[in-house]
Amino acid sequence: MIVLKTESEVVRMREAGKILAGVLSELARLVRPGITTADIEEVADRRILEAGATATFKGQPGMVSYAPPYPAATCISINEQVIHGIPSDRVLKDGDLVSIDCGVTWKGWIADAAISVVAGTASPDVQRLMDTTRRGLMAAIELARPGRKLGDVSFAVQQHAMAEGFGVVREFCGHGVGRTLHEDPPIPNYGTPGTGPGLRAGMTLAIEPMITLGSHQVKVKRDGWTVVTNDGKPAAHFEHTILVTEGAAEILTPWEI
Ligand code: MG
Ligand code: MG
Repeated sequence: MIVLKTESEVVRMREAGKILAGVLSELARLVRPGITTADIEEVADRRILEAGATATFKGQPGMVSYAPPYPAATCISINEQVIHGIPSDRVLKDGDLVSIDCGVTWKGWIADAAISVVAGTASPDVQRLMDTTRRGLMAAIELARPGRKLGDVSFAVQQHAMAEGFGVVREFCGHGVGRTLHEDPPIPNYGTPGTGPGLRAGMTLAIEPMITLGSHQVKVKRDGWTVVTNDGKPAAHFEHTILVTEGAAEILTPWEI
């Protein structure tokens, strides 16, 4: 069931989104060769606490039975890691593609967003992958308005990826978000225009293209969390939580990178 949010609920989600956008924008500036992903996690954790909010991802149950509850405030995924990379003492190297995903809970309401940035200098392929993924997200948001179907949003991402010959991850997708991190509807990054639920003002959606430089096929690593591409080629991930309104969608997580 898709839950529409009231104006007062949207106020909380907007506040959650603002906190999260500030955190992610700061984290993006930290990404450079020589820093560890644990260093980035530490800043995220501290900033969320300072804001009086809670790190939504901590303690999230795993998708596979042997996965422990998620241990961190952020997911930081490097190169062939698509999503759900766990922060560690791994040191970033020049050219690493770093995707940072984070969630914030504020007064019971959640915002979820992700960015991809490169440590140092991006290769032309990686730059094109990131630009395309980000453009796909923005094109999808542009279509998220009443009168449109969810399939229109999904197809917008797919179209951008396919035009560049990139892969679209199938096993993971965007979602509704609100009181819980994952609500209806699931939002695949591929689809058929004109199909799926109709979009209505008051829906809050986390749209999150995960696009690969090579094959779209992925697997979960033995830690039960980290999702990597089968062929070892890099992936990019951008995400916004948005509010569907009567006009253009409002981006509730306006990170700046
Ligand atoms: Mg996310
Ligand atoms: Mg999400």
